Amino acid sequence: MTTKRLIVFSDSGDTVVDEGSQVLDERGIVTDALLIPGAGETLRRIHDEGFTVCMVVDGEVESFHNVYAKYGLEKYVDAWVISQEVGQQKPAPIMFETAFRRLGLTEADRGRVVMIGNNLKKDIAGANRQGLTSVWLDWSPRYFHTFQEPDWVPDYTVKTPGELIPLLHALEEKLE
Ligand SMILES: [Mg+2]
Repeated sequence: MTTKRLIVFSDSGDTVVDEGSQVLDERGIVTDALLIPGAGETLRRIHDEGFTVCMVVDGEVESFHNVYAKYGLEKYVDAWVISQEVGQQKPAPIMFETAFRRLGLTEADRGRVVMIGNNLKKDIAGANRQGLTSVWLDWSPRYFHTFQEPDWVPDYTVKTPGELIPLLHALEEKLE
């Protein structure tokens, strides 16, 4: 395995985890959930093929730990940026800026970062405004499905997690 140049930022809810399946405790912490079909395997492959993975996610630290530990996915994630720690949610620039800092990325790296997410308003607009390549995972029926603002339009759209693998390889090739 060779380390890839492409850096992958990813959302979690309705991008890796099926939000419709989430079980919450009385504090609103996710204690259990199902993964989107193919998402766990896709995350493993993205990691194993040498891409750097940073989860850029809105929610509580404990919720992500509960679900990612359950499925053994934590080892495929290089860094986490969680809104509970940052104090703001996507599309706030600080969420993406924190990811850059955690991975030691600079302005010069902007063109090799791709952000994957289901939410046009948070993930896609957030990424587009940062000059990142945006990939919309249009799997979930929840949230927005129309491009209400010009910067909600994704660079790429996929319908299932498995489609991300060939797309990431194509984007990697464009960088080389
Ligand atoms: Mg989401």
